[in-house]
Amino acid sequence: MSAVDSIDPVQSAEGDRLNPAQAVSPIPPLLGASLAELTDWVQQQQQPAYRGKQLHQWLYQQGGRSLADISVFPKQWRANLADVPVGRSTLHYRSEAPDGTVKFLLRLADGQIIETVGIPTDKRLTVCVSSQVGCPMACDFCATGKGGFTRNLGRHEIVDQVLTVQEDFQRRVSNIVFMGMGEPLLNTDSVLASVRSLNEDVGIGQRSITISTVGIPGHIRRLAQHQLQVTLAVSLHASNQALREQLIPSAHHYPLTALLEECREYVQITGRRVSFEYILLGGLNDRPEHANQLTEHLRGFQSHVNLIPYNPIQEVDYQRPDSKRIQTFVEALKAKHIAVSVRQSRGLAADAACGQLRASKVGAIA
Ligand code: SAH
Repeated sequence: MSAVDSIDPVQSAEGDRLNPAQAVSPIPPLLGASLAELTDWVQQQQQPAYRGKQLHQWLYQQGGRSLADISVFPKQWRANLADVPVGRSTLHYRSEAPDGTVKFLLRLADGQIIETVGIPTDKRLTVCVSSQVGCPMACDFCATGKGGFTRNLGRHEIVDQVLTVQEDFQRRVSNIVFMGMGEPLLNTDSVLASVRSLNEDVGIGQRSITISTVGIPGHIRRLAQHQLQVTLAVSLHASNQALREQLIPSAHHYPLTALLEECREYVQITGRRVSFEYILLGGLNDRPEHANQLTEHLRGFQSHVNLIPYNPIQEVDYQRPDSKRIQTFVEALKAKHIAVSVRQSRGLAADAACGQLRASKVGAIA
């Protein structure tokens, strides 16, 4: 049985609720809580409602890490709160590329390490967040997939990544992409809770948030029911079922046609176009016939294709296509009126591909 065969989305959602950090502490970490939840919480402790607002401000605007530091709170109460978990991580490793991209390895309360990336441009600061420690999908070209799966992240651990990047850059985060470690739709409860918090508490527009998934049967349809304004990105990576199965083990249980059908429903229900990610692997999925197959699938589809030239990882021997091949693929899609762009790899000089930093540094520094 492969790792993917054993995934039970219901069980993993349960697992999230019962994660060990929460089991030892009767109070879940505060980060990710709304103003209303925080107000309830302070009132349960016989404090006036306005303390909830102070706490909210301290968590989301001031980057507070221990409740003992909230100087506007009464001394005695503060002392009682010293052990309440806030939910912030600590920095394990930081690596800055010449183009300004910063990769962070963050240590969580239980010692697990996750990767987060801050990607600055003139107008934007994008954070690439992780949704799980590791990933069970085991896609063949992905460094995270090679390392296996440990656990889901809680909502506080997702919000923390964004605050950490914001504090490091001393600049407001404008965009978030769930394209770090993990499969967001196997951790939907925490991902949706973090999206709410990032939107309402941190102040990032839903349209500036992208959830990227390799596709889990039934989950895109379920996400659509939430009627969010976030962008859905689907990691397609192949133009036919056989090739997709070769690259993505879970595709064995999810025909390409069924995946595309759910994506169509997503567009119908939400009115938002879907973004398709297609990793370009030289000689394997970047030939003219692949471009043609892809255009057939996406004909008349409200979508956008993001081509991602493969970032080499140590474990496998795929090729990154040269710019001429990439351009030929782009032109073939454009000729059929498919909206397409090529994602520029940022931060390659610092630490190679997605997931590579953690793979190379966790063992060395932990
Ligand atoms: N599980 C989700 C999100 C994590 S991966 C998903 O599959 O969409 C986010 C993106 O990074 C995916 O499109 C993935 O294919 C891409 N990626 C992973 N490894 C890569 C590599 N070696 N080179 C280029 N892109 C890669």
